[in-house]
Amino acid sequence: MAMATKEIWFLTGSQNLYGEETLRQVAEQSQKVVEQISSGLAAPVAIVWKPVVKTTDEIKSMLVAATASDSCVGVITWMHTFSPAKMWINGLEALKKPMLHLHTQAGQSLPWATIDMDFMNLNQAAHGDREYAHILSRMDVARKVVVGFPTDPRVQREVDSFAWATIGWDKSQHLKVARFGDNMRFVAVTDGDKVAAQITFGMSIEQLSVNTLADAVLAVSDSDADDLCEIYEAEYQVAPELCSGGDRYESLQYGAKIEIALRSILEAGGYSAFTSNFEDLGTLRQLPGLAVQRLMADGYGFAGEGDWKTAAMVAIVKAMTPSGGGTSFMEDYTYHFGPGTPKVLGAHMLEVCPSISGEKPSIEIHPLGIGGKEDPVRMVFTGKPSQGRVLCLTDMGSRFRIISNEIQIVEPTEDLPNLPVARAVWEPEPSLPISAEAWMLAGGSHHTVLTNSVSQETLEDFARIASVELVEINSTTTSKGLRKELQWSSAYHRLVNRSV
Ligand code: MN
Repeated sequence: MAMATKEIWFLTGSQNLYGEETLRQVAEQSQKVVEQISSGLAAPVAIVWKPVVKTTDEIKSMLVAATASDSCVGVITWMHTFSPAKMWINGLEALKKPMLHLHTQAGQSLPWATIDMDFMNLNQAAHGDREYAHILSRMDVARKVVVGFPTDPRVQREVDSFAWATIGWDKSQHLKVARFGDNMRFVAVTDGDKVAAQITFGMSIEQLSVNTLADAVLAVSDSDADDLCEIYEAEYQVAPELCSGGDRYESLQYGAKIEIALRSILEAGGYSAFTSNFEDLGTLRQLPGLAVQRLMADGYGFAGEGDWKTAAMVAIVKAMTPSGGGTSFMEDYTYHFGPGTPKVLGAHMLEVCPSISGEKPSIEIHPLGIGGKEDPVRMVFTGKPSQGRVLCLTDMGSRFRIISNEIQIVEPTEDLPNLPVARAVWEPEPSLPISAEAWMLAGGSHHTVLTNSVSQETLEDFARIASVELVEINSTTTSKGLRKELQWSSAYHRLVNRSV
């Protein structure tokens, strides 16, 4: 799932009026800006300088090419000189890639003592970018605006956030979600409009029979499963009863067969997210637990009970998660109201990603108490303390809404010796009572994506690119303010009324 081959095109606007010598300097200096801005980039994407565009036709050709390119995930635009904005209209009509407008200069400081009319002729971004931004606003082109010198760490961080968001957006555009079974019966928030999801996010939500998986599991050989079990024993703390030669080794072997079968179906179909539903397991003998956890650790999106929206968001957020960071499917499960700071205990039946773990996971087997199948194997661990967020994607009927809550993941107050599932404990901002009230007022789901790495800014950039509402719950949230925001936002979206 490496994305290092992706590009953000850096486009510099000008016009022929200036003559060859000035345009040569525009080209050189814009290449220097690309070098400077690239030096602060952590996202696995290359900023690629493109020849200066100077006419309506050149601009349109470039933006059409950016739109058509599979490797181009976004564009950065800068008007070093004046580039009359009527020249941009035709191209902007064709552009379908995320845009960042970088409002910068070739020089950080004014050369007060030496500044002359040649300098003034070349360094015009202060008004050139304003002319350009006028047409962006008039045409309602969604974009991020970053202002400042390209070596400024704040500027570099803002560009980097955007770059991560373009990777998430590119992931979303090509995302295929495999659903083994439908949504859990009667559940509202996990359902939604799959056609609207494809129109809005590009993602394709596809149904596969669970017996496709069950049949594939049967076809996996014992020896292939044994090889994978050896890897489990090397990488995790496997319970003695599940180890090779142990009483319940066959259950681990069956879990390995699920992983091998699932992985091959997902790879063959080009799926990078999937769902299961414990109500519809066909002839599968166990609810997939360990297999799901291992696949999530490799970057696959997942959610339980047919929840394709959360599965998709797990995949998208994982694409925006730097290596070493953690992102998982999660569910608000139960509360600690006190004593001490109120906390949420998050878990799922089995399926939490070990990328958020602070320890070497153990592999264990225990009864599930739901679904009527054999005891499933699963990894057990506790999420490592860090700052993070939980977020969800909801279908509000006429549009989608992303809700994000900043959280502090903490050590559990006490050991949890009788809880045989992976879990995380957190304190939501600004407090559990306000967070939960705000989340429920916004209609957020019980299923979430938990990440300890993706920044608020990247999430904001992603939502802007998608033209989807983002409700943020953080340390500044108040109940009164949030209610007003939801009312205004609802009115706004009714006025905009994008058809999905
Ligand atoms: Mn659930």
